[in-house]
Amino acid sequence: MFRISQFIKPLVQETPFVCRPKPQAPVVIWNLIRRCNLTCRHCYTTSADIDFPGELTTEQVYDVLLDLKNMDVPAVILSGGEPLLRPDIFLIGAYAKHLGLYVGLSSNGTLMSPDIAREIGRTGFNYVGVSVDGLEQTHDEFRQKKGSFRDALNGIEHCKQAGVKVGLRFTLTENNANEFPAMLDLMRERDIDKFYLSHLNYAGRGRRNRKRDAMHLTTRKAMEQLFERAHEDALDGRQTEYVTGNNDADGPFLLAWAAQRYPHRLEELKARLIHWGGNASGMGIANIDNTGEVHPDTFWWNHNLGNVKDRPFSEIWRNTQDPFMTGLRSQPRPLRGRCRTCAVRNMCNGNTRVRGFTHSEGDFWAEDPGCYLTEEEIRQPAFIN
Ligand code: SF4
Repeated sequence: MFRISQFIKPLVQETPFVCRPKPQAPVVIWNLIRRCNLTCRHCYTTSADIDFPGELTTEQVYDVLLDLKNMDVPAVILSGGEPLLRPDIFLIGAYAKHLGLYVGLSSNGTLMSPDIAREIGRTGFNYVGVSVDGLEQTHDEFRQKKGSFRDALNGIEHCKQAGVKVGLRFTLTENNANEFPAMLDLMRERDIDKFYLSHLNYAGRGRRNRKRDAMHLTTRKAMEQLFERAHEDALDGRQTEYVTGNNDADGPFLLAWAAQRYPHRLEELKARLIHWGGNASGMGIANIDNTGEVHPDTFWWNHNLGNVKDRPFSEIWRNTQDPFMTGLRSQPRPLRGRCRTCAVRNMCNGNTRVRGFTHSEGDFWAEDPGCYLTEEEIRQPAFIN
Protein backbone atom coordinates (compact mmCIF):
# COMPACT_ATOMS: atom_id res chain seq x y z
CA MET A 1 0.00 0.00 0.00
CA PHE A 2 1.29 3.44 -0.93
CA ARG A 3 0.19 6.13 1.53
CA ILE A 4 0.28 9.26 -0.62
CA SER A 5 -0.78 11.66 2.13
CA GLN A 6 2.03 10.46 4.39
CA PHE A 7 4.49 11.57 1.70
CA ILE A 8 2.76 14.78 0.61
CA LYS A 9 2.03 16.21 4.07
CA PRO A 10 5.75 16.37 5.02
CA LEU A 11 6.42 18.22 1.74
CA VAL A 12 3.83 20.83 2.64
CA GLN A 13 4.68 21.01 6.35
CA GLU A 14 8.46 20.75 5.78
CA THR A 15 8.70 17.92 8.32
CA PRO A 16 12.14 16.31 8.46
CA PHE A 17 12.46 12.60 7.70
CA VAL A 18 13.15 10.41 10.72
CA CYS A 19 14.04 6.83 9.82
CA ARG A 20 12.00 4.47 12.02
CA PRO A 21 12.36 0.66 12.03
CA LYS A 22 9.72 -1.23 10.05
CA PRO A 23 7.42 -3.76 11.76
CA GLN A 24 8.91 -7.25 11.88
CA ALA A 25 5.57 -8.93 11.12
CA PRO A 26 3.27 -8.39 8.12
CA VAL A 27 -0.08 -6.67 7.80
CA VAL A 28 -2.45 -9.61 7.34
CA ILE A 29 -5.29 -9.39 4.86
CA TRP A 30 -7.65 -12.15 5.83
CA ASN A 31 -10.44 -13.25 3.50
CA LEU A 32 -12.53 -14.75 6.29
CA ILE A 33 -15.42 -15.83 4.08
CA ARG A 34 -15.87 -16.33 0.35
CA ARG A 35 -19.63 -15.92 0.35
CA CYS A 36 -20.84 -12.57 -0.98
CA ASN A 37 -24.26 -11.07 -1.64
CA LEU A 38 -22.93 -9.45 -4.85
CA THR A 39 -21.17 -10.86 -7.93
CA CYS A 40 -18.82 -8.07 -9.03
CA ARG A 41 -17.10 -8.32 -12.39
CA HIS A 42 -13.55 -7.72 -11.14
CA CYS A 43 -13.76 -9.84 -7.98
CA TYR A 44 -10.43 -11.60 -7.39
CA THR A 45 -11.95 -14.19 -5.06
CA THR A 46 -14.69 -15.22 -7.55
CA SER A 47 -17.21 -15.24 -4.74
CA ALA A 48 -20.90 -16.18 -4.90
CA ASP A 49 -23.93 -16.10 -2.61
CA ILE A 50 -23.44 -19.67 -1.40
CA ASP A 51 -21.58 -21.23 1.51
CA PHE A 52 -18.08 -22.44 0.64
CA PRO A 53 -16.68 -25.56 2.33
CA GLY A 54 -13.66 -25.70 4.62
CA GLU A 55 -13.92 -22.25 6.23
CA LEU A 56 -12.57 -21.71 9.74
CA THR A 57 -14.69 -22.08 12.85
CA THR A 58 -14.89 -19.23 15.35
CA GLU A 59 -12.47 -21.06 17.67
CA GLN A 60 -9.97 -21.58 14.86
CA VAL A 61 -10.17 -17.87 13.99
CA TYR A 62 -9.54 -16.99 17.66
CA ASP A 63 -6.42 -19.19 17.71
CA VAL A 64 -5.04 -17.46 14.61
CA LEU A 65 -5.78 -14.00 16.03
CA LEU A 66 -3.89 -14.84 19.22
CA ASP A 67 -0.94 -16.04 17.15
CA LEU A 68 -1.03 -12.84 15.07
CA LYS A 69 -1.06 -10.75 18.24
CA ASN A 70 1.87 -12.71 19.68
CA MET A 71 3.95 -12.14 16.57
CA ASP A 72 3.14 -8.40 16.68
CA VAL A 73 1.35 -7.94 13.37
CA PRO A 74 0.68 -4.21 12.90
CA ALA A 75 -2.84 -4.69 11.45
CA VAL A 76 -5.41 -7.28 10.41
CA ILE A 77 -7.82 -6.46 7.58
CA LEU A 78 -10.90 -8.69 7.60
CA SER A 79 -12.23 -9.14 4.10
CA GLY A 80 -14.21 -11.60 2.00
CA GLY A 81 -16.41 -12.24 0.10
CA GLU A 82 -18.50 -10.02 2.32
CA PRO A 83 -17.18 -10.32 5.89
CA LEU A 84 -20.46 -9.08 7.39
CA LEU A 85 -22.06 -12.32 6.17
CA ARG A 86 -20.10 -14.27 8.78
CA PRO A 87 -22.56 -14.66 11.68
CA ASP A 88 -19.64 -14.44 14.14
CA ILE A 89 -18.01 -11.33 12.61
CA PHE A 90 -18.64 -9.19 15.69
CA LEU A 91 -17.37 -11.90 18.06
CA ILE A 92 -14.22 -12.11 15.92
CA GLY A 93 -13.86 -8.33 15.83
CA ALA A 94 -14.39 -8.03 19.59
CA TYR A 95 -11.80 -10.71 20.33
CA ALA A 96 -9.26 -9.06 18.00
CA LYS A 97 -9.85 -5.72 19.72
CA HIS A 98 -9.62 -7.39 23.15
CA LEU A 99 -6.15 -8.59 22.07
CA GLY A 100 -5.25 -5.01 21.15
CA LEU A 101 -4.98 -5.53 17.40
CA TYR A 102 -5.64 -2.82 14.80
CA VAL A 103 -8.61 -4.25 12.86
CA GLY A 104 -9.99 -3.02 9.54
CA LEU A 105 -13.03 -4.28 7.69
CA SER A 106 -13.35 -4.43 3.92
CA SER A 107 -16.99 -4.46 2.83
CA ASN A 108 -19.26 -3.77 -0.12
CA GLY A 109 -21.29 -1.61 2.27
CA THR A 110 -24.70 -2.88 1.23
CA LEU A 111 -25.42 -4.65 4.53
CA MET A 112 -24.47 -1.74 6.77
CA SER A 113 -27.84 -0.76 8.16
CA PRO A 114 -27.90 1.74 11.07
CA ASP A 115 -27.97 -1.20 13.53
CA ILE A 116 -25.05 -3.00 11.88
CA ALA A 117 -23.05 0.25 11.68
CA ARG A 118 -23.63 0.85 15.40
CA GLU A 119 -22.47 -2.70 16.09
CA ILE A 120 -19.33 -2.05 14.01
CA GLY A 121 -18.70 1.03 16.13
CA ARG A 122 -19.36 -0.79 19.42
CA THR A 123 -17.02 -3.61 18.40
CA GLY A 124 -14.27 -1.07 17.88
CA PHE A 125 -13.22 -1.73 14.28
CA ASN A 126 -10.57 0.88 13.50
CA TYR A 127 -11.59 1.43 9.91
CA VAL A 128 -14.12 0.29 7.30
CA GLY A 129 -13.30 0.42 3.58
CA VAL A 130 -16.30 0.36 1.23
CA SER A 131 -15.85 -0.50 -2.45
CA VAL A 132 -17.40 1.87 -4.99
CA ASP A 133 -16.79 1.43 -8.73
CA GLY A 134 -18.07 4.69 -10.16
CA LEU A 135 -21.25 6.70 -10.22
CA GLU A 136 -24.61 5.02 -9.72
CA GLN A 137 -25.12 3.45 -13.15
CA THR A 138 -21.51 2.30 -13.54
CA HIS A 139 -21.35 0.92 -10.02
CA ASP A 140 -24.63 -0.98 -10.30
CA GLU A 141 -23.51 -2.47 -13.64
CA PHE A 142 -20.14 -3.58 -12.21
CA ARG A 143 -21.82 -4.99 -9.14
CA GLN A 144 -24.58 -6.51 -11.27
CA LYS A 145 -27.18 -5.30 -8.80
CA LYS A 146 -29.44 -2.30 -9.08
CA GLY A 147 -29.51 -0.18 -5.95
CA SER A 148 -26.11 -1.37 -4.72
CA PHE A 149 -24.57 2.11 -5.16
CA ARG A 150 -27.22 3.74 -3.02
CA ASP A 151 -26.95 0.95 -0.42
CA ALA A 152 -23.16 1.39 -0.25
CA LEU A 153 -23.43 5.16 0.22
CA ASN A 154 -26.11 4.69 2.87
CA GLY A 155 -23.81 2.21 4.61
CA ILE A 156 -21.02 4.79 4.61
CA GLU A 157 -23.36 7.40 6.08
CA HIS A 158 -24.53 4.99 8.78
CA CYS A 159 -20.90 4.28 9.72
CA LYS A 160 -20.13 7.98 9.93
CA GLN A 161 -23.13 8.50 12.20
CA ALA A 162 -21.87 5.65 14.37
CA GLY A 163 -18.50 7.36 14.64
CA VAL A 164 -16.66 4.77 12.54
CA LYS A 165 -13.78 5.90 10.33
CA VAL A 166 -14.74 5.04 6.77
CA GLY A 167 -13.19 5.19 3.31
CA LEU A 168 -13.93 4.62 -0.36
CA ARG A 169 -12.16 1.83 -2.24
CA PHE A 170 -12.10 2.40 -6.00
CA THR A 171 -10.60 -0.01 -8.55
CA LEU A 172 -9.46 1.92 -11.61
CA THR A 173 -10.35 0.44 -15.02
CA GLU A 174 -10.70 1.82 -18.55
CA ASN A 175 -14.48 1.63 -18.05
CA ASN A 176 -14.69 3.81 -14.96
CA ALA A 177 -11.64 6.13 -15.25
CA ASN A 178 -13.74 9.01 -16.59
CA GLU A 179 -15.74 8.95 -13.34
CA PHE A 180 -12.66 9.03 -11.12
CA PRO A 181 -12.75 12.84 -10.56
CA ALA A 182 -16.41 12.50 -9.57
CA MET A 183 -15.38 9.89 -7.00
CA LEU A 184 -12.92 12.33 -5.47
CA ASP A 185 -15.67 14.95 -5.37
CA LEU A 186 -18.03 12.45 -3.76
CA MET A 187 -15.47 11.88 -1.03
CA ARG A 188 -15.29 15.59 -0.33
CA GLU A 189 -19.05 16.20 -0.51
CA ARG A 190 -19.76 13.36 1.90
CA ASP A 191 -16.87 14.20 4.19
CA ILE A 192 -15.34 10.72 3.87
CA ASP A 193 -12.05 10.15 5.68
CA LYS A 194 -10.06 8.11 3.21
CA PHE A 195 -9.71 7.23 -0.48
CA TYR A 196 -8.05 4.01 -1.63
CA LEU A 197 -7.32 3.70 -5.32
CA SER A 198 -6.66 0.12 -6.32
CA HIS A 199 -4.91 -0.46 -9.64
CA LEU A 200 -6.35 -3.28 -11.66
CA ASN A 201 -4.25 -6.45 -11.83
CA TYR A 202 -5.22 -7.10 -15.42
CA ALA A 203 -3.82 -10.20 -17.06
CA GLY A 204 -2.61 -8.73 -20.32
CA ARG A 205 -0.73 -10.90 -22.78
CA GLY A 206 1.78 -10.07 -25.49
CA ARG A 207 4.82 -7.85 -25.11
CA ARG A 208 3.17 -4.54 -25.94
CA ASN A 209 -0.29 -3.70 -26.99
CA ARG A 210 -2.32 -0.60 -27.59
CA LYS A 211 -4.80 -1.40 -24.90
CA ARG A 212 -2.06 -1.54 -22.28
CA ASP A 213 -0.51 1.72 -23.48
CA ALA A 214 -3.92 3.39 -23.21
CA MET A 215 -4.30 2.05 -19.67
CA HIS A 216 -0.89 3.44 -18.76
CA LEU A 217 -1.93 6.90 -19.93
CA THR A 218 -5.19 6.59 -18.03
CA THR A 219 -3.29 5.55 -14.90
CA ARG A 220 -0.84 8.46 -15.14
CA LYS A 221 -3.71 10.91 -15.46
CA ALA A 222 -5.58 9.42 -12.50
CA MET A 223 -2.44 9.44 -10.36
CA GLU A 224 -1.80 13.09 -11.17
CA GLN A 225 -5.39 13.90 -10.16
CA LEU A 226 -4.94 11.96 -6.95
CA PHE A 227 -1.65 13.69 -6.08
CA GLU A 228 -3.25 17.09 -6.76
CA ARG A 229 -6.21 16.30 -4.53
CA ALA A 230 -4.02 14.99 -1.70
CA HIS A 231 -1.85 18.10 -2.08
CA GLU A 232 -4.88 20.41 -1.97
CA ASP A 233 -6.16 18.72 1.20
CA ALA A 234 -2.72 18.91 2.83
CA LEU A 235 -2.50 22.64 2.05
CA ASP A 236 -6.01 23.18 3.46
CA GLY A 237 -5.21 21.19 6.61
CA ARG A 238 -7.90 18.56 5.95
CA GLN A 239 -7.35 15.30 7.88
CA THR A 240 -8.01 13.09 4.86
CA GLU A 241 -5.91 10.17 3.65
CA TYR A 242 -5.21 9.08 0.09
CA VAL A 243 -3.65 5.70 -0.55
CA THR A 244 -3.12 3.36 -3.50
CA GLY A 245 -2.55 -0.34 -3.92
CA ASN A 246 -1.24 -2.81 -6.50
CA ASN A 247 1.11 -0.54 -8.40
CA ASP A 248 4.32 0.41 -6.64
CA ALA A 249 5.48 2.57 -9.55
CA ASP A 250 3.25 5.14 -7.79
CA GLY A 251 6.20 5.90 -5.46
CA PRO A 252 8.73 7.01 -8.10
CA PHE A 253 5.89 8.69 -10.02
CA LEU A 254 5.21 10.84 -6.93
CA LEU A 255 8.89 11.78 -6.93
CA ALA A 256 8.57 12.95 -10.54
CA TRP A 257 5.46 14.95 -9.60
CA ALA A 258 7.23 16.54 -6.62
CA ALA A 259 10.28 17.44 -8.74
CA GLN A 260 8.15 20.14 -10.40
CA ARG A 261 6.71 21.57 -7.17
CA TYR A 262 9.13 20.88 -4.31
CA PRO A 263 12.60 20.60 -5.86
CA HIS A 264 14.16 21.70 -2.56
CA ARG A 265 12.48 18.78 -0.70
CA LEU A 266 13.35 16.08 -3.22
CA GLU A 267 16.22 14.46 -1.32
CA GLU A 268 14.03 13.97 1.75
CA LEU A 269 11.17 12.58 -0.28
CA LYS A 270 13.56 10.21 -2.00
CA ALA A 271 14.85 8.99 1.39
CA ARG A 272 11.27 8.39 2.55
CA LEU A 273 10.40 6.48 -0.63
CA ILE A 274 13.50 4.31 -0.41
CA HIS A 275 12.70 3.58 3.24
CA TRP A 276 9.16 2.62 2.24
CA GLY A 277 10.74 0.32 -0.31
CA GLY A 278 7.91 -0.43 -2.73
CA ASN A 279 6.23 -3.78 -3.12
CA ALA A 280 5.93 -5.69 0.16
CA SER A 281 4.30 -8.99 -0.89
CA GLY A 282 5.71 -11.86 1.13
CA MET A 283 7.35 -9.46 3.59
CA GLY A 284 5.17 -6.63 4.92
CA ILE A 285 1.95 -8.07 3.47
CA ALA A 286 0.46 -11.53 3.93
CA ASN A 287 -2.80 -13.13 3.01
CA ILE A 288 -4.90 -15.86 4.60
CA ASP A 289 -7.74 -17.16 2.44
CA ASN A 290 -11.17 -18.36 3.55
CA THR A 291 -9.97 -21.96 4.01
CA GLY A 292 -6.92 -20.95 6.05
CA GLU A 293 -4.29 -21.23 3.30
CA VAL A 294 -1.51 -18.66 3.62
CA HIS A 295 -0.34 -16.77 0.51
CA PRO A 296 2.31 -14.09 -0.26
CA ASP A 297 -0.52 -11.63 -1.01
CA THR A 298 -4.17 -11.63 -2.10
CA PHE A 299 -3.38 -12.29 -5.76
CA TRP A 300 -1.52 -15.58 -5.21
CA TRP A 301 -4.37 -17.88 -4.23
CA ASN A 302 -2.82 -20.64 -6.36
CA HIS A 303 0.43 -20.38 -4.39
CA ASN A 304 0.04 -21.98 -0.95
CA LEU A 305 2.57 -21.72 1.87
CA GLY A 306 0.71 -23.79 4.46
CA ASN A 307 -2.62 -23.86 6.29
CA VAL A 308 -3.34 -22.21 9.65
CA LYS A 309 -5.54 -25.20 10.55
CA ASP A 310 -2.39 -27.35 10.55
CA ARG A 311 0.33 -24.96 11.77
CA PRO A 312 0.39 -21.50 13.35
CA PHE A 313 0.59 -18.63 10.88
CA SER A 314 3.77 -17.38 12.59
CA GLU A 315 5.53 -20.68 11.91
CA ILE A 316 4.36 -20.86 8.28
CA TRP A 317 5.41 -17.27 7.64
CA ARG A 318 8.77 -17.30 9.39
CA ASN A 319 9.98 -20.77 8.44
CA THR A 320 8.97 -20.99 4.82
CA GLN A 321 11.52 -22.44 2.42
CA ASP A 322 9.30 -21.65 -0.57
CA PRO A 323 11.59 -20.45 -3.41
CA PHE A 324 9.18 -17.70 -4.50
CA MET A 325 9.04 -16.34 -0.94
CA THR A 326 12.83 -16.48 -0.73
CA GLY A 327 12.98 -14.41 -3.92
CA LEU A 328 10.38 -11.92 -2.64
CA ARG A 329 12.44 -11.43 0.53
CA SER A 330 15.83 -11.14 -1.14
CA GLN A 331 17.36 -7.73 -1.73
CA PRO A 332 17.48 -7.06 -4.56
CA ARG A 333 14.78 -9.35 -5.90
CA PRO A 334 15.91 -11.45 -8.89
CA LEU A 335 13.94 -9.34 -11.35
CA ARG A 336 14.19 -9.49 -15.12
CA GLY A 337 13.55 -7.22 -18.08
CA ARG A 338 13.19 -3.49 -17.53
CA CYS A 339 12.65 -4.03 -13.77
CA ARG A 340 16.20 -5.47 -13.45
CA THR A 341 17.91 -2.38 -14.83
CA CYS A 342 15.44 0.18 -13.53
CA ALA A 343 17.01 3.15 -11.71
CA VAL A 344 14.09 3.48 -9.28
CA ARG A 345 13.65 -0.18 -8.33
CA ASN A 346 14.76 0.66 -4.77
CA MET A 347 11.47 2.62 -4.45
CA CYS A 348 9.30 0.09 -6.29
CA ASN A 349 10.87 -3.32 -5.66
CA GLY A 350 9.69 -4.75 -8.97
CA ASN A 351 6.03 -3.93 -8.44
CA THR A 352 3.26 -6.52 -8.65
CA ARG A 353 4.67 -9.97 -9.39
CA VAL A 354 1.36 -11.56 -10.35
CA ARG A 355 1.11 -9.29 -13.43
CA GLY A 356 4.64 -10.19 -14.54
CA PHE A 357 3.87 -13.88 -13.94
CA THR A 358 0.62 -13.85 -15.91
CA HIS A 359 2.00 -11.73 -18.72
CA SER A 360 5.04 -13.96 -19.20
CA GLU A 361 2.99 -17.13 -18.72
CA GLY A 362 4.89 -18.39 -15.72
CA ASP A 363 8.02 -16.34 -14.94
CA PHE A 364 7.81 -15.13 -11.31
CA TRP A 365 10.42 -12.43 -11.96
CA ALA A 366 9.37 -11.08 -15.36
CA GLU A 367 8.99 -7.31 -15.67
CA ASP A 368 5.63 -5.94 -14.57
CA PRO A 369 3.54 -4.92 -17.61
CA GLY A 370 1.51 -2.66 -15.31
CA CYS A 371 4.45 -0.25 -14.93
CA TYR A 372 3.33 3.04 -16.44
CA LEU A 373 6.65 4.87 -16.10
CA THR A 374 8.36 5.79 -19.36
CA GLU A 375 11.77 4.44 -20.38
CA GLU A 376 13.21 7.87 -19.65
CA GLU A 377 11.74 7.89 -16.15
CA ILE A 378 13.22 4.51 -15.22
CA ARG A 379 16.68 4.99 -16.82
CA GLN A 380 18.43 8.21 -15.93
CA PRO A 381 15.61 10.34 -14.57
CA ALA A 382 16.75 13.87 -13.89
CA PHE A 383 14.94 13.85 -10.55
CA ILE A 384 17.01 10.94 -9.25
CA ASN A 385 20.38 12.69 -9.44
S1 SF4 B 1 10.47 -0.81 -14.27
FE1 SF4 B 1 9.85 -2.32 -12.74
S2 SF4 B 1 11.03 -1.76 -10.89
FE2 SF4 B 1 11.06 0.02 -12.27
S3 SF4 B 1 9.36 1.32 -11.65
FE3 SF4 B 1 8.63 -0.01 -13.29
S4 SF4 B 1 7.75 -1.79 -12.27
FE4 SF4 B 1 9.06 -0.71 -10.78
